[in-house]
Amino acid sequence: LKHYINDGVPKQTDLELRVTKIELKVPPKGSGAILLKNLYLSCDPYMHRRMRDFHGSYIHPFLPSQVIEGFGVSKVIHSDHPNFKPGDFISGLTGWEEYSLIHKTDKLRKIEPDDDIPLSFNVGLLGMPGFTAYAGFYEVCSPRKGDYVYISAASGAVGQLVGQLAKLHGCYVVGSAGSKEKVDILKNKLGFDEAFNYKEESDLDAALKRYFPEGIDIYFENVGGDMLDAALLNMRVHGRIAVCGMVSQQSLSSPKGIHNLLNLITKRIRMQGFLQSDYLHLYPRFLEHVASNYKQGKILYVEDMNEGLESAPAAFAGLFHGKNVGKQVIRVAHD
Ligand code: NDP
Repeated sequence: LKHYINDGVPKQTDLELRVTKIELKVPPKGSGAILLKNLYLSCDPYMHRRMRDFHGSYIHPFLPSQVIEGFGVSKVIHSDHPNFKPGDFISGLTGWEEYSLIHKTDKLRKIEPDDDIPLSFNVGLLGMPGFTAYAGFYEVCSPRKGDYVYISAASGAVGQLVGQLAKLHGCYVVGSAGSKEKVDILKNKLGFDEAFNYKEESDLDAALKRYFPEGIDIYFENVGGDMLDAALLNMRVHGRIAVCGMVSQQSLSSPKGIHNLLNLITKRIRMQGFLQSDYLHLYPRFLEHVASNYKQGKILYVEDMNEGLESAPAAFAGLFHGKNVGKQVIRVAHD
């Protein structure tokens, strides 16, 4: 990170690639540290929060000129920790660099490589975004068979799994996304009942009325702003809005006002924000559920893989312009 990004969406030039020659050192005895070779890094919208000079958040900011921390999949090269040995694969917080010396190992998850599941899925389908979809859908949305479910940013890392879990649950599912290619993926690959390109709609309220003539039971909110206002107008009585993210608002210095909140009262809607990290006790159950459905072919997962650490700044900035088609991942090295 070159400097804090307090204004507007992140740009490729806000990050810089530094080439430094380092000597890989074995972690000192008694340090409990491990040396990792990073294989895959995850680009996530929440990381923008950590790139701001703002300390009142749920997560502390990065320091300018320092290596960015993010979720990744890595291989252990050396270890001074009894739980990890060279050759192990792990997933968790690592650095945006080729090799990382990690002292805080308590949140790392050991991965058993599985021939049927790509290793990179451990930052997507089986990682933080997949878990967000699982916790948000089952714990916050209170889904029932037959519910009408609407998901914004539906083809992204989180949205694509929410839609598929909702279909498995017997719901009617509509997603919105920002390009024709994404809409095609939702309808023809991921099994959504309907999907539309919100950029082609001049009136979001009318678009939602077209897809939900009887109204929406569950809105899985990833976007905020005008989309939330339109969804509020179309919610059914006792509807639920799970506020996962507001990607259209998080870069604005003064986020848009919402006009239709009175609907919360008249329709007795429950609108609840959540953080996936509050539900981590459910992680083993999530892994079992999602991995087994994936292996049975009942769930698919779309990744957008960029090659090389040098592609990371553009890929990260691209999230805020909808350039990613599916989960944005950087391949740093082959496993
Ligand atoms: P995505 O993979 O969906 O990537 C972001 C997508 O957001 C883009 O591809 C784009 O899709 C859409 N987007 C970007 N800018 C705008 C904009 N101005 N207006 C409308 N849409 C926009 O990201 P994730 O699936 O990883 O994350 C989805 C949301 O979930 C984010 O808001 C994120 O912060 C949140 N999140 C919350 C967590 C929690 O614990 N609460 C945990 C993880 C994620 P399109 O082309 O369709 O517009």
